[in-house]
Amino acid sequence: MRDRRPVGDLAALLGRCSAVAAFTGAGISTESGIPDFRSPGGVWTRYDPRDFTFSKYVGSRDVRLRAWAMRREFWATEPRPNAAHLALARLEAAGRSIGVVTQNIDGLHQAAGSATVAELHGTSREVMCIGAAPRVGTPDGCGFRASTRWAFDRIDGGEGDPACPSCGGLVKSATVSFGQNLFPGALEAAVDLLARADLVLAIGSSLQVHPAAGLPAAAARRGVPLVILNDEPTPLDVLATLVVRGRAGAVLPPAVDGVLAGRPVA
Ligand code: NAD
Repeated sequence: MRDRRPVGDLAALLGRCSAVAAFTGAGISTESGIPDFRSPGGVWTRYDPRDFTFSKYVGSRDVRLRAWAMRREFWATEPRPNAAHLALARLEAAGRSIGVVTQNIDGLHQAAGSATVAELHGTSREVMCIGAAPRVGTPDGCGFRASTRWAFDRIDGGEGDPACPSCGGLVKSATVSFGQNLFPGALEAAVDLLARADLVLAIGSSLQVHPAAGLPAAAARRGVPLVILNDEPTPLDVLATLVVRGRAGAVLPPAVDGVLAGRPVA
């Protein structure tokens, strides 16, 4: 069903549910100033994500230097949670949501106050040792992990491509790059969360990146209502109970606040 009353229809569905699971993609963070893959003038118009595959990162110091520069550029904007992240956190705090499964690596759900967040693609807030010569697509590090600030401090100290202080291996952002396997347990945590949901709310995802996009699809095929809030069509619209075409930061907060206040939303 395509919406006629975006906020009111969403609020009506949310109001009937007590175990909402959000599934979020890059689109929920564009209103925090973090570009998705399509945003004009965004970071992805200056860096080609295909240059940062796991094997290229492992094989080339030059690629690693550019990857650190990209990370630095990303965090220099000091992104903060926007109204949509905050609305999801309020829904969870009120006991109406069981948490968030996210494809994002920006940590903004936790910054907004969401307590249960399954990060399918890791986090760019931390770095990790991936070993000296990891097997194709799989980190093989010693377990060293630190904040991304640690890496920036080492780079500022003259170490262009910081090495693991414990074993000398390569250090990489704790994210899942192209050509890299998901971290052990990440998919299982996301599947577990969605299995307990009585409504799946997909927000700001093109629903084209797999295996992540298969999760809301599987929930819908099990008969769990699926709401898609996105500013453009997605391949899963045909499976959705409700498709809301709009900006996450404009639609979600009034819907959530109406539900939490127990008042009808137009
Ligand atoms: P995507 O870039 O493929 O799709 C984002 C979708 O959100 C698009 O359909 C876009 O039209 C829509 N959108 C943009 N702004 C919106 C808004 N304000 N309200 C509603 N819809 C909006 O994103 P994806 O599906 O998450 O896949 C991209 C991959 O890249 C992910 O795997 C993710 O790991 C990574 N990524 C993460 C970030 C981040 O952490 N913030 C940013 C860019 C890319």
